[in-house]
Amino acid sequence: SKTPVGFVGLGNMGSPMAKNLLRNGYPVIATDVFPESCKELQDIGAQVVDSPAEVAERADRILTMLPSIYFTFTGSLCDTRASADVRRLKTSIKEPGNALCFVLFRKVKKGTLLIDSSTIDPAVSREMAAAAEKMGAVFMDAPVSGGVGAASLAKLTFMVGGVEEEYNAAQELLTCMGANVVYCGQVGNGQAAKICNNMLLAIGMIGTAETMNLGIRLGLDPKLLAQILNMSSGRCWSSDVYNPVPGVMEGVPSANSYQGGFGTTLMAKDLGLAQNTATNTKTPIPLGSLAHQIFRVMCSRGYANKDFSSVFQFLREEEGQ
Ligand code: NAD
Repeated sequence: SKTPVGFVGLGNMGSPMAKNLLRNGYPVIATDVFPESCKELQDIGAQVVDSPAEVAERADRILTMLPSIYFTFTGSLCDTRASADVRRLKTSIKEPGNALCFVLFRKVKKGTLLIDSSTIDPAVSREMAAAAEKMGAVFMDAPVSGGVGAASLAKLTFMVGGVEEEYNAAQELLTCMGANVVYCGQVGNGQAAKICNNMLLAIGMIGTAETMNLGIRLGLDPKLLAQILNMSSGRCWSSDVYNPVPGVMEGVPSANSYQGGFGTTLMAKDLGLAQNTATNTKTPIPLGSLAHQIFRVMCSRGYANKDFSSVFQFLREEEGQ
């Protein structure tokens, strides 16, 4: 029988991913700071524990799917800084910092495989890998592309960085949750690929939103315009699979008041990562930088917890409609 897999972070993405591990016959030992997030998974057979430390004690393969992981490397201290809600929770329990990985790393057993699917800075992944190595464990970055729908259908794309000898062990688990698993080279390279993808996604989404809005202002029916774009050279994922205009498609956040999906805060975070890496490598990213600013402004105007396709609504409000 299969040995248990640990899972930390049961949010929009983590929850459906962990479900797919269960479906594939892996016992799952899971945790999240929000007990509500664990309930659903527990009901379908996961073992829910109170802390990442307990996950680390009981599993020797652990996946993390968290908003972000800030790694202050004093000894082996690391700290996850989460969404606004988690921050509120943190202050309410008066934990000094959010001790997730700190505890996880303290308790991690020798030989443990840590797979982090959060989108974080490639440099942080490399630091995590160095810290894991000191503990006799292996850390790989395996950020994903695809969104909540793809996570539910096990159709994610995983971009994996880390020691090649460990790749097969990671791949065995990742194929239960994704349709494409791509080895990108050394640790951090998965993140590099992911950050590039999301920068293009952000630019594409803003472009789609402003294009759709212009068309509507010119009197076009949004469904018709989307149909035309999607059979023409303007087609992109944001126009075709994740259209930001309410009423154009079903089953996407724009059809549901921009709830669920990929939060604007998370997109702003990813663009911040893109900006950091671009600054460090002296790479010009004029549109990436502008996209970063647009999503950051949205965060301070009430869009933080809405799906990032709400940039359409933001543009409409900006023009006073
Ligand atoms: P989310 O905010 O919905 O989920 C994160 C979960 O982590 C929450 O349930 C939160 O309670 C939990 N958490 C935070 N700190 C914790 C801690 N210290 N201990 C235990 N649990 C903790 O975020 P998400 O949309 O699932 O995204 C997760 C990651 O995946 C992010 O890095 C994001 O950028 C990336 N990502 C998201 C999508 C998407 O479409 N949502 C797509 C690709 C990649």
